[in-house]
Amino acid sequence: MKIALISPRGALYKHTGGIWKKSLRYAPLTLTTLASLVPAELNAEVMLVDEGVTDVDLHLDADLIGISAITGSALRAYELADHYRRRGLPVILGGVHPTLMPDEAAEHADTVVVGYAEQTFPQLLRDFSAGHLQARYVQSPDLSLANLPHPRRDLLNPHDYTTIHTSEATRGCIHQCDFCVVPSAWGRPRHKPVAEVIDDIRQMRAKKLIFLDLNLIANVAYAKELFAALIPLRVTWGGLATTLIAGDDELLDLAVRSGCRGLLIGFETLAEEALQSVRKGFNRHHEYRIVIDKLHAHKIALMGTFVFGFDHDTKETFDQVADFVLDSHIDLPRFAILTPFPGTPLYRKLVAEDRILTQNWSLYDGQHVVFQPYQMSPEELWRGTEAVWKRVYRYRSIARRLAGARVQLPLVIPANIGYRFYAYRLHQFYTCDWRN
Ligand code: SF4
Repeated sequence: MKIALISPRGALYKHTGGIWKKSLRYAPLTLTTLASLVPAELNAEVMLVDEGVTDVDLHLDADLIGISAITGSALRAYELADHYRRRGLPVILGGVHPTLMPDEAAEHADTVVVGYAEQTFPQLLRDFSAGHLQARYVQSPDLSLANLPHPRRDLLNPHDYTTIHTSEATRGCIHQCDFCVVPSAWGRPRHKPVAEVIDDIRQMRAKKLIFLDLNLIANVAYAKELFAALIPLRVTWGGLATTLIAGDDELLDLAVRSGCRGLLIGFETLAEEALQSVRKGFNRHHEYRIVIDKLHAHKIALMGTFVFGFDHDTKETFDQVADFVLDSHIDLPRFAILTPFPGTPLYRKLVAEDRILTQNWSLYDGQHVVFQPYQMSPEELWRGTEAVWKRVYRYRSIARRLAGARVQLPLVIPANIGYRFYAYRLHQFYTCDWRN
């Protein structure tokens, strides 16, 4: 049996014509994890296609096509699915978007996988092999992440990525931020046994790695156990956390000793009312400087992310955030436009208020305005966001931020140049008519 597993491109991430060059991409884990779940007794040949780094062959030779989609790549996923089905190939759709919109995905697929694939995908493949593929496979609530095979990184070309050494210890998040797909799509948080995570890292022979967990410190006791177990490996790593890491000295100390050198933290906004209104009230604006200074004092570089478009945001918000980013010396700032992903409480709220401007999912990429903002026009929102990107990535802004941060990791300067490249080309990718 030949199985082709495809990760479709989004406009910002395709390898030709997109903003990002593949040199800035790390290896994703979705396809390699799916490949590891293929039952050995099927003797299947598995091919992985990441459209972010390579073209997909529309004439490829396969018996079964699996496509994993997020909302921003859903239309491309449907385009590919329709194409392969016209060729007579059965198509499976899964991932965040089909999990949140299974009926829509079912219009383009023979089978839809809802939720994580760890239990359902092996069963699906056995059913396919036996000739009785079901229309839908739904993850059971008792899913455990223990005793699973390690991702099949050997199926990726390491030269396509900045690093192939990506890992994942946990899934989901304990928080319930209104705009986030994680709680809606993935349910309660789960984690792998620490010993299995460590075994995977040892087998990779990685000295530097990236944890792709959406919030590595969601379960603080687990995070402490994981960080303690990482110390003997003498690796360095980066990952995602929340501002709460700076409030727990033992956790932060273990993170540093385990090799943490960079963290992505979602600050989102400076307005506490906005944070409360989207249920991210554990972020406290008046503590942001303390968090940033503390991480810098521990030599941890910070990718700080902010979102524009909350109902509390005004035209003044853009400069306030840019001033804060420059004054606080955030090493690698990133900005997104609030995106009401389908299935989230934010989406339901905006539908109820008749403020959704388009359901063109390819614009749901965090850089397009897809809803009517409360205190400005859609154009003011995207132009304001673009202006902040450009302001904080001027050469003198980069110098000011990095001189103040004093972390001086070798990767931070090239990463800033990469983001400057992005900031100054972003306008080429805006679709200005958001009603399409
Ligand atoms: S803390 Fe982050 S991952 Fe968790 S729900 Fe909020 S935005 Fe999502």
